[in-house]
Parts: sequence; structure tokens; C-alpha cells
Amino acid sequence: MEKKVKTKGTKILGLPRPNYMKSRFIYTRLHQKSNTRIRTVFGILFFCNFAAKSKQGMIQATGIHKSYGNLEVLKGIDLHIAKREIVSIVGASGAGKSTLLHIIGTLDKADCGQLRIDGTEVNKLNDTELAAFRNQKIGFVFQFHHLLPEFTAIENICIPAFIGGMGKKEATERAEKLLAYLNLSDRKDHKPSQLSGGEQQRVAVARALINQPAVVLADEPSGNLDSKSAQELHKLFFRLRDEMGQTFVIVTHNPELAAMSDRTITIKDGRI
Ligand code: ADP
Repeated sequence: MEKKVKTKGTKILGLPRPNYMKSRFIYTRLHQKSNTRIRTVFGILFFCNFAAKSKQGMIQATGIHKSYGNLEVLKGIDLHIAKREIVSIVGASGAGKSTLLHIIGTLDKADCGQLRIDGTEVNKLNDTELAAFRNQKIGFVFQFHHLLPEFTAIENICIPAFIGGMGKKEATERAEKLLAYLNLSDRKDHKPSQLSGGEQQRVAVARALINQPAVVLADEPSGNLDSKSAQELHKLFFRLRDEMGQTFVIVTHNPELAAMSDRTITIKDGRI
């Protein structure tokens, strides 16, 4: 009686086992070899993809121009920010720092130029797609926290999650975790007017993080804080990057924050 040859698997490269490969030894060897080759090929592809993505970075802006009437504010900005990088943008008042940050944040549109964030060509999105993209990918922290005065801390934090369609239970759970992380649990039912400046800004940070964005953009985040609260906020940004992996772009006049950053970019005469 013919003994059936049992081999692990029945296919090579997805094809049925051919008739001429009756020998268990040959078949098994080829099977192993092809598996090794497949693994090698996938390994190379994975590495190339990883290398390309790392090179691509988190934010890629190319040839960004922006004018308001006759005032040419940005005159061709090229900017490449890697994942998990913390970059400070500095420059004289009126140099165009906030304008650039608003363009990166998709709150404003460049007159021309390309912007890619986390692999998405932002210019190609329509208004609805852009709003959803912004909601999911970008968190904002402004100098003035812009918390809604009639809502409590936890309600303010949940707002971007609700806008993104998250249910109340999940949003509340996430907000409570963030409040605990930011040492604000006992302030969750306080309204903004019942919080200190530093606490208000930490609530604003929690609101920026609720949708787990890839990028956090901050415009003079410590500009309105006393030096101790400012220092705590700056340290928090680095802790968040280390523990949650966000990329930070921060417009600041604060020399300490700029010095702590991975990189400082200066805007002058509409260029960097
Ligand atoms: P920075 O953040 O470096 O202080 P901004 O980006 O806020 O500078 O502003 C750069 C220049 O663009 C300033 O001269 C400002 O007055 C002008 N500007 C900014 N936004 C507008 C706008 N919406 N309309 C007209 N001019 C603007």
C-alpha cells in the first residue's frame, strides 16, 4: 500500500503541491526554503516601508506661502518634523509663527504649497474630511485655554470626543483617565472659573489629547502662566511625548521651553 506523505502545509507560495514533488524530503525542504524566502522578502518589504515612513516623518510642509492682502507673511516654508519630535517655533512678534501653526493645524489654508500629516495629503481633503481629520489627528493647546465657561472640566475634555462621534461612556472613561494622569481628578466637576491658570491649561491639554491625536500643536501654551505652572506644563509635554508618543509643535517666546525642545525653528522675513 502506498504510504501517504504527510507534510506541514499543502501549498507553496499559495499554489497547490505539484504531483512531481512526491518525496517528503524534497517537498519539505522546498516548503521550508520558500517559507524562509517569503519571510526574507516580507522582512525586506517591512523594513523598506518602515524606513520610508520614518523618512516621511509626521509633518511635511513644502513651499508654504501665505499672504493677507499685500502682506506676504510666509514666503515658501519647507518643514519636516519627525514622529515624536518636539519642535519649537520662535521668532519676532508678527513674523508668522501662528500663521504657520494654523496652516499646519489645517485651521487655515496656505495660498500654495503641500502639507502632509501622518501620511495624509491634507490639500486633497474636502472640508468635511478635513474637519474629521483635524478632530482625530490634531490636538490644540492655545495661550488662552478657550475652555467653555458653562461646562465642567470633564465636560470640556469630552467635547472633541463627542464631536468625533464617541459614545458618552467611552469619552467619560478616557477623560477620567486623562484627569488622573494630569493630577486633576479632584477638579473634574469644577468649572473653568473655579480652576487655577495651570489647572485650566492642563484641562486644555487633556481636551487636546482625548482623541489620542498624532500631533499636538501649541500656541504660546505657557504665555499666560506663572513660571512654576509654565515649567510644569513644559515638563508635561515631554512626559506625554515619552509616554504617549505624540509629536509636538510649539510656538513660544519662552526661552526655557525652546531650549528644552529637540529642535528650534526660527521664522524671519517669512522664511525659516
Ligand atoms: P506671530 O505669531 O509670529 O506673532 P502671526 O502669524 O500672528 O505672527 O501674524 C503674522 C502677520 O500676519 C502679522 O503682521 C499679522 O498682523 C498678520 N495677520 C495674521 N493673521 C491675519 C489675518 N487673519 N488677517 C490679516 N492679517 C493677519
